[in-house]
Amino acid sequence: MLSIFVETSCNRYNRDECEFCHVYEPLMEHPVSEWHLTVQQAQMMADKIRNVDVLNTLAQQEINLTGGEASQNPDIVEICKVFQSVTPYVCLHTNLDMLSEKSKRWQRLVEIMQRGGRVDITLYPTAWEKSQKLFLEEMLKLQNKLIVNVVYETLPDLQNQIDLLLNFFKDRGSLYAHVTKLLQSYAEKVTTLIATHPHCDEKIFTMGMGDTEAFASKPEFIFGISLLPAFNIDKNGFRAMTSLPFPRDKYLIGCPAARGSIDIMTIQQNGEMTPCCDVGNLKCQPKFGNVLNDSPEEIMGKMESSMKVLASGVRKNHENIKSGKAGEQVEEGIPPYCN
Ligand code: SF4
Repeated sequence: MLSIFVETSCNRYNRDECEFCHVYEPLMEHPVSEWHLTVQQAQMMADKIRNVDVLNTLAQQEINLTGGEASQNPDIVEICKVFQSVTPYVCLHTNLDMLSEKSKRWQRLVEIMQRGGRVDITLYPTAWEKSQKLFLEEMLKLQNKLIVNVVYETLPDLQNQIDLLLNFFKDRGSLYAHVTKLLQSYAEKVTTLIATHPHCDEKIFTMGMGDTEAFASKPEFIFGISLLPAFNIDKNGFRAMTSLPFPRDKYLIGCPAARGSIDIMTIQQNGEMTPCCDVGNLKCQPKFGNVLNDSPEEIMGKMESSMKVLASGVRKNHENIKSGKAGEQVEEGIPPYCN
């Protein structure tokens, strides 16, 4: 999958059009040219993606437009069309936290769904009743597939979020019976874990969840759910070694790129690429080329040399973890939990 940033994150998710963001301090770190991806930049990216085999292969799996809040980009519909010329599988991630159907953000999402793009959401319990639920209901009239990210801080938090989804789909009737069945299975397993191992570690959690599927799939509707533990971020923007729901375990990330396999690539608005699994938030330093500025040959050269840097950093992380120095930064500039 290719994940492409189309909108800078200002760390403040306004509920509607961003009227104030451009004077909001966190954005000031970024040059104006990086606030919203432009259609011209998207076109340049699309042309380059077609000409670099590694990127084109990932694009044919899926191009995921993200941010920040992708629907706040005023040109997102045109940008979506540009990337749909590369692959039929273009999706966009949104928080669905909008004021009304008159919101330009909602109108953009509607147009994208009508043009065959898939819109996915991250569940926010604070926004669920007042906006997410209503817009999700409308979304189901326009698309027959959906992936929901559930970011949880504790097991009861996870239980609560699964219940929100379960009740929502129960109310939608038999068309979604397969979704309800899947969510019911999640709900039962989490409830059992809370009753039997309320402070469980991640291993027990994984065993407790068993081989629960991530998808409930029928021709009428395909549903996917992704459970993501939340993390504390320190004042310098570095993610903690442990997740919030499982504070006793180091949360290590297996890095495919360090093993020579590029499974995902994140492209930032300035064109910089990271083969990262977390939309670029992990502050991984080795760069895999710039899709706007570099030639296909330069990109391939940078990918090759950076993969060696990742492999070396991962080796040092291993040593640090073994010798009780987990969390120390290595000179390769990769996060200490990458493995
Ligand atoms: S080293 Fe870590 S942050 Fe960097 S690409 Fe690999 S998994 Fe992502």
